[in-house]
Amino acid sequence: YSNIDLIDKYNIYAPEIAELNCGRDSKRCTTIEGFIKSIPQDAKFVKLPHVVPDESGTPLVEVKDLKFAYEDGTQALNGLSFEVKQNELVALIGQNGSGKSTLSKILSGIEGNFRGTVKVADLDLHDVKNRRNMPRHVGYVFQNPDHQIFNRNVYAEVAYGLKNMGVTQSVIEERVNTVLKSVNLIDKIKEDPLFLGRGQKRRLGVASVLAMHPEIIIVDEPTTGQDYKMSKEIMQLLKKLNEDGTTIIVITHDMRLVAEFCPRSIVMNQGKIVYDGSTFDLFKNDKVLETASLRAPQIVRLSKEMVKVGISDDIMLTSEDVNRAYGKWIVIQNNDK
Ligand code: ADP
Ligand code: MG
Repeated sequence: YSNIDLIDKYNIYAPEIAELNCGRDSKRCTTIEGFIKSIPQDAKFVKLPHVVPDESGTPLVEVKDLKFAYEDGTQALNGLSFEVKQNELVALIGQNGSGKSTLSKILSGIEGNFRGTVKVADLDLHDVKNRRNMPRHVGYVFQNPDHQIFNRNVYAEVAYGLKNMGVTQSVIEERVNTVLKSVNLIDKIKEDPLFLGRGQKRRLGVASVLAMHPEIIIVDEPTTGQDYKMSKEIMQLLKKLNEDGTTIIVITHDMRLVAEFCPRSIVMNQGKIVYDGSTFDLFKNDKVLETASLRAPQIVRLSKEMVKVGISDDIMLTSEDVNRAYGKWIVIQNNDK
């Protein structure tokens, strides 16, 4: 694990600790204990400002006391309320069965038989007309791409939704091309999606909702079953879309990606929201983590140990943060000299 070049080259999901510069000689460590031991006695980590959710936008999603049961009686959602503001990037997390996909299907107008209030872009989703119009506002990328993709070539798959929207042929062509370039699939434009790899299918799923230019994209577990590099690429694509103005809700089990990319987290448990706030405060909150059976990323666990032994004032979320905080410390020491 100390051979970073090899790890990069063969795309291995290495422990985050292996990304830290540790000790004065910056050699690699692979365990929390090893890292802490390598820190010089007089070291102190500089406190960095942490990312907070930007809730300055207008509300795009408004949910109040939402309840939902499937036809067989399964109570999937048990009364939840939250808002998502324009241009946020929110992680939706929680164990299997906690209701994340059900919530996403309601927000995208697929399921309508709910109780409570759900408004998207000021449209009441109790109204079937508004639900039918939802694909213009909310793009839902299914958990399983095979449930979403059904055309026999990549071009047709992306063009499908646009045709339904009544977009003209020339605009369709232009949008399909742009969108396939942005997800790096332009060279597959004539291929049958059946022959695409998992990661490629994922990106195709994202492309076909992107083409509709929705205000909100909900991506259901885009990183499950992908290697780290692919997961990171998908998250980088979502981040880019977010920077360009799209509101993003991403469902994922990968706490490392949540820490790295999502300023805000909503945590669900048994059809309820058990936490809604900054990702930073979530990872500080051991009680919530335990309730929802979440394991904080390795760097968070490391920095909690560092706080305990008094070498850091607060937790850190990513290896980059630790290296930055540590790097500064080294500079300060040198200046002191
Ligand atoms: P998550 O996406 O967080 O894993 P889901 O929204 O898929 O959770 O599921 C929430 C609850 O609803 C679970 O108890 C699940 O078994 C149930 N459920 C999901 N889909 C259906 C369905 N089509 N019919 C009946 N129950 C369902
Ligand atoms: Mg799900």
